[in-house]
Amino acid sequence: MLAYQHAYHAGNFADIHKHLALLSLVRHMLRKKSPVTYIDAHAGRGLYRLAEPETQKLKEYETGVGTLWSARQALSGCHELLDDWLAALQRLQPGAKALSHYPGSPWWLAQGLRSHDRLSLFELHPGEHDHLEGQPLLQAARRIHGDGLAGLQRVLPVATPRLCVLIDPSYERKAEYAEVAESLRFVARKARHAVVMLWYPLLPAGRHTTLLEAVRKAELRKVWRSEFEVHSLDSATHGMYGSGLLVLNPPWGLGDELEEALACLLPLFGPPARQRAGWWVAE
Ligand code: SAM
Repeated sequence: MLAYQHAYHAGNFADIHKHLALLSLVRHMLRKKSPVTYIDAHAGRGLYRLAEPETQKLKEYETGVGTLWSARQALSGCHELLDDWLAALQRLQPGAKALSHYPGSPWWLAQGLRSHDRLSLFELHPGEHDHLEGQPLLQAARRIHGDGLAGLQRVLPVATPRLCVLIDPSYERKAEYAEVAESLRFVARKARHAVVMLWYPLLPAGRHTTLLEAVRKAELRKVWRSEFEVHSLDSATHGMYGSGLLVLNPPWGLGDELEEALACLLPLFGPPARQRAGWWVAE
């Protein structure tokens, strides 16, 4: 199928939520010296030019990263994670003043890569994979054209002492909600201390509840949840009203850091924006 292309949505509010959490995760992983294998099971194209026709069609970035970019002076100093995130975004722009590019998950992961760490990027869409291949910034990464969840089954366990996985599918098929829960269980079984971040959309159909319930029944421990809602369910009857993340084995402090950084953003999005965070499955 693969009709989905992230370029239509790049830089929207869900990307802000996911990539702030990802930067926080990478910062936490860097606190220890031991090598990490990072696996991005659904990489997308890695870097998005906001002027691309796909991105211009919906212009979702305008109410996502565009809002943060315009408010960056006012946001400065509110939280260190947000400052670092905005500084990284600024460094990426060819012209310092204008926002023209938005980085995807491979780029955020590659930012923290040390010489002894590993990064594998899976992408199933041939066109998106070609974009990934063309990016010099990602040269240190293994870029694999193929199914990310099947790829996890092949490459686990890994050789490094630590493992960090991002699962971020497009949920084009209903069955994916259950499949990703099963993948989370698989990773936990193969690598007990693996840190896994799993993104899901909050849509009016409420299919994410299938995923959440499956995770609760999967006999996992230490699964933390963060949800960031920018629309009320009533006003967004046809679109995504929020963004959700589950983190298996979150590094200590990640939850607080993300909550505090998101709290700085809530006034920008205005009511009914809100967040909810806490253990989905306790320790
Ligand atoms: N992780 C990216 C980011 O944060 O910048 C965005 C990923 S986007 C939500 C989902 C991507 O997964 C799309 O590029 C899609 O082509 C790809 N995809 C869909 N099914 C896949 C699969 N089974 N294995 C690998 N990639 C897949």
